[in-house]
Amino acid sequence: MSKSNQSNWDVIVAGGGPAGFFAAIRCAEINPDLRVLILEKASQTLGKVLISGGGRCNVTHACFDPAQLITYYPRGGMALRGAFTRFQPADTVKWFEEHGVKLKTEADNRMFPVTDSSETIANCLREAAKNAGVKVHLGTSLLNVEKNPQGGFRLEVMKEAKVLSIQTDKLLIATGSDSKTREIVRSLGHSIEEAVPSLFTFNIKDPRIAGLAGLSVENVTLHIDSLSQSGPMLITHWGLSGPAVLRLSAWGARILFGRKYRSFLTVNWLGDYKLDAALEVLQHSKDWHENARRKVSAQPAFSQIPIRLWKQLTQFIGDKNWGDVSKVELRKLAGELTAGEFTIEGKGQFKEEFVTCGGVNLNEVDFKSMQSRIVKDLFFAGEVLDIDGITGGFNFQSSWTTGWLAGNALAAADAT
Ligand SMILES: Cc1cc2nc3c(=O)[nH]c(=O)nc-3n(C[C@H](O)[C@H](O)[C@H](O)COP(=O)(O)OP(=O)(O)OC[C@H]3O[C@@H](n4cnc5c(N)ncnc54)[C@H](O)[C@@H]3O)c2cc1C
Repeated sequence: MSKSNQSNWDVIVAGGGPAGFFAAIRCAEINPDLRVLILEKASQTLGKVLISGGGRCNVTHACFDPAQLITYYPRGGMALRGAFTRFQPADTVKWFEEHGVKLKTEADNRMFPVTDSSETIANCLREAAKNAGVKVHLGTSLLNVEKNPQGGFRLEVMKEAKVLSIQTDKLLIATGSDSKTREIVRSLGHSIEEAVPSLFTFNIKDPRIAGLAGLSVENVTLHIDSLSQSGPMLITHWGLSGPAVLRLSAWGARILFGRKYRSFLTVNWLGDYKLDAALEVLQHSKDWHENARRKVSAQPAFSQIPIRLWKQLTQFIGDKNWGDVSKVELRKLAGELTAGEFTIEGKGQFKEEFVTCGGVNLNEVDFKSMQSRIVKDLFFAGEVLDIDGITGGFNFQSSWTTGWLAGNALAAADAT
């Protein structure tokens, strides 16, 4: 390849997001002789990093065991198993520290830059790319890719309303959830799993939670069919949110999409309590002599249920005292507390993090190099793949890991 021709590159990375940057930096740091170019369609790179984690960027999660780490990925966990033995959150922490950024761990194991600013992460990646000699073309959109018969690729890109042609020996696609690029990937022979949203809140209109926005319960268990998730839950103006809901939305992303986001949801407000155990506690409350003349609605039998919620969950009993509650009512209340039925009527947006599931079929990618098994010298990293994690830093981690692996392979003389 002629090094004098400006439109010829050794490596082109389509997509200036975290996966693309990580790959380009790694590749250029290992092999400084290579001419590496990032194409970014927007007017700035790393747009999602900047808005991530409520402006703080939840970079990764303090989970350092690959076997456990993969359990946080509703899709792609198995494929990532080996990849995480090569680059996992401990390596992410080390990488950022070596590039001048210290991360801290919060009580729930999410990791953020100590500055609490996503700009720290974006600036670090831009600086590292610049230092490694990576070039970035902004406002440049990948339109089409053709494989050259003699090797390498001819790309058509759009810049300032002009279509330009660029040659590259190797191509990494790291364009996230962009649907047009997924079509390009399909045209190269890959199959694509349909994109559907993951990580969303549930819209529920129900008198039992009406007017309680802002109230949270420490540990609930939620079920949709055979799927279940436990953890904190938050009541919102529109329905339900919080870690348990977001996790269930990720695992149930395809089921709920298929149902147009209308589904039954079972809520156990008492976490892992079974009906009989709850009934026993309720019976005890009824039998306790001091309670006999106290209103049920004013005297929660379980400390984890806030009084305002308790009042609404027990409304069907009316104004009765504990002493006057019938056995049937007590059993009904135990059922309400351990398996309350709600109807999801739509999905809301989780503003701190939004990801889609779907993307390039993982069987068609070699997870040691992130190279396509179908087209030589074509690579993938990040959200363009059919991988998504629950909330907590797992989505960035899969971008760092797949980007790093792709960077190694792109730098090698021949990745086959
Ligand atoms: C609001 C929000 C908050 C989030 N917070 C977190 C968080 O705190 N922690 C976490 O782990 N995850 C978070 N995520 C998810 C995380 O941002 C993504 O998983 C991650 O950005 C995926 O990285 P990527 O590089 O694969 O894709 P992207 O970040 O989407 O980057 C792809 C890049 O490619 C560019 N591009 C697309 N098409 C083309 C084309 N044809 N030509 C050229 N360029 C193109 C795009 O403009 C973009 O810059 C959040 C997501 C959102 C939306």
